[in-house]
Amino acid sequence: MYSRLHKHGYMRLRHLPEIRHYSGSILKKKEHLAKNIQPGKAVHGFLCSEIEHIKEYNITAYFLVHEKTKTEYLHLERDDTNNVFSVGFRTTPLDSMGTPHILEHTVLCGSEKYPVRDPFFKMLNRSLATFMNALTGPDYTFYPFSSQNEVDYRNLQKVYLDAVFKPNLSRLDFLQEGWRLEHTKLDDKNSELQFKGVVYNEMKGAFSETSSLFGQKFINTILPKGTYGYVSGGDPIRIPELTHEHLKKFHATHYHPSNARIYSYGSFPLEANLKFVNEAYLSKYDYLNPQDTIVAQQERWKSPKRAEIPCRVDQYGGPIEKQNQIAIGYVMSDITNIYETFMLTALAELMIIGPNSAFYKSLIEKNISGGYNSLTGYDNQIRDTLFVIGLRDVEKSKFETVEKIANQTIEDIFAKGFEKDHIESVLHGFELSIKHQSPKFGLNVLFNLMPLWNHNGPILNALKVNELLTKLKTNLMNPIYVKDVIEKYFLSNNHKLIMTMQPDPKFDDTFNEAEAKSLQSKVAALTKEDREKIYQDGLELSEAQKKVEQLDSLPCLKIEEITLNKTAPPLRHAVAETIPLQLCEANTNGVTYFKGVLGTESLKETQRQLLPFFNYVLDKFDTKSYNYRDFDKYVSKSTSGLSFITHITEHIDQQEQYEQGVLIGSHCLDENLPKMLDIWSEIFNKPNFGNSERMTMLLTNYCSSLTSGIIDSGHTYAMQAARSLISSVDQCKENLLGLHHVISMQEIQKNYKIDEIQSIVDQIAKQVLKGSNLRAAFHYSNTNKDIHNIVDKFCTELCKGDEGKELNRINWTDSGKTAKENRGIHISMNIPVNFCAKVIPTVAYTDPDFAKLRVLSRFLSSKYLHPIVREQNGAYGGGATITMDGVFNFYSYRDPNSNVTLDVFDKTADWMANNTSLVDDQNLFEAKLSILQQMDQPVPEYMKGIDLFLYGLSYDIWQTQRERVLAVQNEDLAEVCKKYLSADKWYGKCVIGEGVANLGKENEAWERLSGPQQ
Ligand SMILES: [Zn+2]
Repeated sequence: MYSRLHKHGYMRLRHLPEIRHYSGSILKKKEHLAKNIQPGKAVHGFLCSEIEHIKEYNITAYFLVHEKTKTEYLHLERDDTNNVFSVGFRTTPLDSMGTPHILEHTVLCGSEKYPVRDPFFKMLNRSLATFMNALTGPDYTFYPFSSQNEVDYRNLQKVYLDAVFKPNLSRLDFLQEGWRLEHTKLDDKNSELQFKGVVYNEMKGAFSETSSLFGQKFINTILPKGTYGYVSGGDPIRIPELTHEHLKKFHATHYHPSNARIYSYGSFPLEANLKFVNEAYLSKYDYLNPQDTIVAQQERWKSPKRAEIPCRVDQYGGPIEKQNQIAIGYVMSDITNIYETFMLTALAELMIIGPNSAFYKSLIEKNISGGYNSLTGYDNQIRDTLFVIGLRDVEKSKFETVEKIANQTIEDIFAKGFEKDHIESVLHGFELSIKHQSPKFGLNVLFNLMPLWNHNGPILNALKVNELLTKLKTNLMNPIYVKDVIEKYFLSNNHKLIMTMQPDPKFDDTFNEAEAKSLQSKVAALTKEDREKIYQDGLELSEAQKKVEQLDSLPCLKIEEITLNKTAPPLRHAVAETIPLQLCEANTNGVTYFKGVLGTESLKETQRQLLPFFNYVLDKFDTKSYNYRDFDKYVSKSTSGLSFITHITEHIDQQEQYEQGVLIGSHCLDENLPKMLDIWSEIFNKPNFGNSERMTMLLTNYCSSLTSGIIDSGHTYAMQAARSLISSVDQCKENLLGLHHVISMQEIQKNYKIDEIQSIVDQIAKQVLKGSNLRAAFHYSNTNKDIHNIVDKFCTELCKGDEGKELNRINWTDSGKTAKENRGIHISMNIPVNFCAKVIPTVAYTDPDFAKLRVLSRFLSSKYLHPIVREQNGAYGGGATITMDGVFNFYSYRDPNSNVTLDVFDKTADWMANNTSLVDDQNLFEAKLSILQQMDQPVPEYMKGIDLFLYGLSYDIWQTQRERVLAVQNEDLAEVCKKYLSADKWYGKCVIGEGVANLGKENEAWERLSGPQQ
């Protein structure tokens, strides 16, 4: 299952690109890795036009153009082992048939040299890739991967390039991935015909999600001319207009080298890439002018426009009269103007984010909505960048008020400008994010550059962030400059759209009618021959899907090519007062990281259920020394912001033990450490939760935020709910992190008085925010000399007045046993496709059988569940996984056939017993590799040793696990499958979704849970 980002670019609040910096002391620049490559010189068919050193990130950038095809190539040479490669195309459809999206799926159904279905998925088991994906944006499609192993990197490069340049694009693949007519009963010519297809189903799902629907329609409406006026992912009603011929033609013109952009990053030699790309592919093509794929700038409107759209009723949302959204958007700069987009990113943050921003004060604090909606922010991923301010869960009668307030807010900003220390705190955030380093640096750069490069923007200049930041600082501090910008982009900007969305109880009916009509007209037009063909195709496709594929053509890493690339982190353990400390000196590049766990086992049940909400509000109130606005400024001027996460962790060797608490964290520049800890002292001194208006607003926003994203992670919720039926640890998790939490919060919102909530939050704070309740971890670089004294002082202050208690590094709680009956839960939700899960308790992480079960989970995923649940049964995905405490999980994702899938889960042990011959050396090795892929992922410097701190999982235990995984034998799989997963074992099941008939078998007790009454 790939996370395909159809909406990539217009869904989230965007901060500064997550571009990270390594200091010179960490990475010594190697002179001239690519000696033969000089500006003006040709090498392997490429002409190098620019070489530049980017000192911010210690990168040498090479820009090359292929002489024959004019393919552009960017290489970023850097002493980083996590190497990246990507090939991307500008894909700009002029219709909503979903051509680029269906093409993205179909090129992954087999190519000339690698005629296997889903080669990426299959390579997942033959590679040590740290990232592999295919992504469709609104105007580009790209295929990136990363790996730390050079043999592996070359293997993946071959598969990727052949997939995009030489795909088979066979008719059957088109029918499977795109759309087709098929008999409801495959072998019955008289049964009714229906639409089927992977993308068809996927987009039906996407269009039923209100926030993605709103995002899609908003872009289509505000940028109506050219490609942005269409749905690149495919409108389900339009998809059946696409033909196989059109798909092939689109490939020939859009996936042509002349329309391609190739990127590589890291320490592997560039020349090898150039040689391969040129010899195997580019040299065999002629130039094809890609002018038809160019996106023109949108013609600006003379006056603002309005639009209204309907959406489906969200059963799990608030009351129906509040389920409306509004968004006000402006078309801003051209993406190629990199300084303007940089400046507008900062401006949007000043205007929108946090309690000091103008829109937060004027709109959010009015408490007329459920908070900002997902469109809100600055979108700099498409040719014409957009600024959007929007609210979710707002009554229709308030639309006019919202509009008035929004206009007034902009006028106020024009009149008063921004406070100086507010600007400073936003700029500080930019600086800190440049220093904070991630092991995904090469991918982050690619994701940030791709939209700009796609429109031929100056990508090398965009990397010089320090220059942009210096200019930005000077400008923002000048009130006249700010006035001009507000005037230009807002007050006199007529390209403005006000769009509203309201739930329509008939929404599904309308869609179903349109679908039925389109089906009818297709069916009516069929000739006798067509019908025969459809019947034959159905059988042939089902046959093809069942066929066991020969994967020998795919390259595979060998066991001797794998090396252990990790070492035990240098940890120091100490105790200050009653606070256990874990200290780790690492290459953190002048940034200090703090993490802490606060135990919550002493909370009462009424308090515990509000814990996630407590975490949400904790840093949003007045503290002893600051009002909440000033506190926010103090926090963002000195740190990355504070985080509070509900933390429930299972035990790695005892199944009924767990730790529950709050995981807290923040980071800062070394010199700000005293300030950062002073901020935490303010929190530990307990904020004042007395502001009931603010509490009410935060409760509304919190409850609204809970329902978004449920569909995207439906399988996770399903597994969680199923686990809660067999494990009391997971019951606790379910109540705090699962769908039960969403439901109980909605009830709390309805039934509680706000002063009761305030009082509970206050009680939680009293019990939890204590020095004696904390254990802490710090990561810091060797330049931070004072850290020990500063931390010591902080701990002493924190524990003052606390009664001493015993030290306990991890506070395990005994969860008690669960009755061993087979139970199921159907969580009925108003969604068109379901999510299924089945869970079986086995053994915990440190048991020798755990590694075998872990390998088995990968084997079953790729050899049993993926082929049957996805390829035959039509779900978007299906697989198996095992949790640390040894619960074996089966899941399906966006599943149209719940009962069939649950049967497939039940028959696992039988299937395994009949298919032991499939466990050959290669398949076993592949299953192991896919686990090593997770285990060998690069660990960020600021996360070293964190498994020990959080779960008690030491490097030694980890290494033992790795050795056990490598030592698993062929016969082990069938053995543990029989021992732990046979049909008579105790289990729990869950289905999330609507309309499942005959759920449950004789020996199962099912309950049905529906959303709150409206
Ligand atoms: Zn897709």
